[in-house]
Amino acid sequence: MDAGIYNSVLVTGSNRGIGLELVRQLAESPIPPSQIFAGCRDPDGPRGKALKDLAQKHLNLITVVPLDTTDPASIKEASRVVGSKLGDGGLSLLINNAALNIPGNLQEAGMKEMVDVYITNVVGPMLVSKEFLPYMQRSSALPGSWAAKSGSKAAIINVSSLLSSIEMCRVTFSEACMYPYRTSKAALNMLTCCMAEELKTDGILVTALHPGWVKTEMGGPQAVLTPIESVSGMLRVISSLTSKDSGTLLNWEGNGIPW
Ligand code: NDP
Repeated sequence: MDAGIYNSVLVTGSNRGIGLELVRQLAESPIPPSQIFAGCRDPDGPRGKALKDLAQKHLNLITVVPLDTTDPASIKEASRVVGSKLGDGGLSLLINNAALNIPGNLQEAGMKEMVDVYITNVVGPMLVSKEFLPYMQRSSALPGSWAAKSGSKAAIINVSSLLSSIEMCRVTFSEACMYPYRTSKAALNMLTCCMAEELKTDGILVTALHPGWVKTEMGGPQAVLTPIESVSGMLRVISSLTSKDSGTLLNWEGNGIPW
């Protein structure tokens, strides 16, 4: 994977699971980005340790940024920190990875579960994208900052799920009833489509990406992919995106998933 096509990358929810592996593979790729911003809501807590250890190994590359994607003040402060490190440069890749799953079928899920999951999985990515957009627009305006073949110079990746697919629900529902999670990720797909349309003129791609069923806290031990396998596929897909992929839902192997 040629990570060098990204000048700078921000990954949300990067202290564990897929987010941590994204930061690790980006940092350890043969041509890494010039800056990696690793968002984490509690870097100094016990859950932040693995990320801080990784950042310690890549001192000039990884900046751990306190970022709670559901807290507008935290998003603003993170943007200030990232902006000061970027200087005149732009942000070429934003990966909205942070998410929450509160499992619940029709009987179990109530207002709190629906709202909490929606805020984390939909409102968070929207607010983060909005706040960091000026840096992405700046990246898009810089010459040659994204792979020439993509026809775009910056990208927002919304980490979605196969469970978001309305068309696939008939097949996937019995295995994972999860009302709050499914509906939130379906809404994230719509956010992806809206932003893809709006940001087309800025040359910013916006794509929803399903990482596969991955062994993380969220995916559980029965999952079929390791974070290493999932993330190497995701980064391969991200590095080969073109404008025709903007406003679509792809899986970690680059195959389209029906809405
Ligand atoms: P995990 O539950 O293992 O990790 C979730 C990450 O999101 C953690 O770093 C968590 O931080 C962070 N997070 C949650 N809420 C917030 C918040 N408000 N602000 C900042 N960070 C937050 O999930 P995965 O790594 O498995 O999932 C990553 C992405 O992949 C998600 O978008 C998920 O929906 C998607 N996905 C995963 C699948 C799987 O099989 N694993 C399948 C399909 C999609 P903290 O430690 O502080 O809680």
